[in-house]
Amino acid sequence: MSKVLLITGGSRGIGAATAKLAASRGWDVAFTYLTNAAAAEKVAAQVREQGRKSIAIKADTGNLQDIPRLFAELDAAFGRLDAFFNNAGIFGPAVPFMDIDPERIQRIIAINTTGAIVAAQEAARRMARSRGGQGGTIVHMSSIASKLGGATGTVDYGASKGAIDSLTIGMAKELAGEGVRVNAVRPGLIDTEIHANAGDPTRIARLSSSIPMQRGGAAEEVAEAVLWLCSDASSYVTGQLLDVAGGRGL
Ligand code: NAP
Repeated sequence: MSKVLLITGGSRGIGAATAKLAASRGWDVAFTYLTNAAAAEKVAAQVREQGRKSIAIKADTGNLQDIPRLFAELDAAFGRLDAFFNNAGIFGPAVPFMDIDPERIQRIIAINTTGAIVAAQEAARRMARSRGGQGGTIVHMSSIASKLGGATGTVDYGASKGAIDSLTIGMAKELAGEGVRVNAVRPGLIDTEIHANAGDPTRIARLSSSIPMQRGGAAEEVAEAVLWLCSDASSYVTGQLLDVAGGRGL
């Protein structure tokens, strides 16, 4: 049987790139989306074109009721889970810290942090040997913003990802004996729609000169790191925060 990878937020950006690359490496891929059904169906079709199984599940990881349902749908469709890429997340427009709307803070933490922790629980329960699982790998989506304290105007986002770094280390220690490896990727500025959706479409072009490699990254470059962490090629790696950032944050 093929191994199964679950990705939250797989309809666009880094999640979509990971879904397609995973299919080319022999993974069956389940993934979630929030609203963009057309983009999700396109990614699922691209996975299937590579001879792999795929389902797209509509689920809001900022809504605690949606998370157990999405895992139940995964169980029904695939009956196994070998790797989980805990990717779904949102960003926000730059706002001085003192003026950030508390509702925005709540939504960012609900999706990027609380939802990610609860989804990780569901994944771990299916993988842990003491719960009848076969072991597995979890890759959390952090950000280089966790190291930098967020960019100017997005301190809440940086804090939401800082929690993911701690989660990665704690989960890795607690689950190593269960056959579950837990790592995170910390991308820098990656060319996806997240920047335009936060009202700043020229963000990468504007900041490129501040990146040691002088360019933003591609979603596929992050996908490569994620799939390495999901694969047996990283079999002795756990609890690590892998910066995929062109030197940003050094
Ligand atoms: P993106 O292009 O905006 O894609 C976001 C994906 O997440 C979409 O599939 C979207 O679904 C889904 N999504 C959004 N909110 C969701 C929710 N509440 N529940 C479930 N799915 C949801 O973003 P991206 O740049 O690929 O970012 C993915 C992750 O990488 C995020 O956690 C982000 O913080 C992190 N990251 C990105 C960068 C960067 O520069 N791009 C850097 C560091 C870290 P729909 O298509 O339905 O909207």
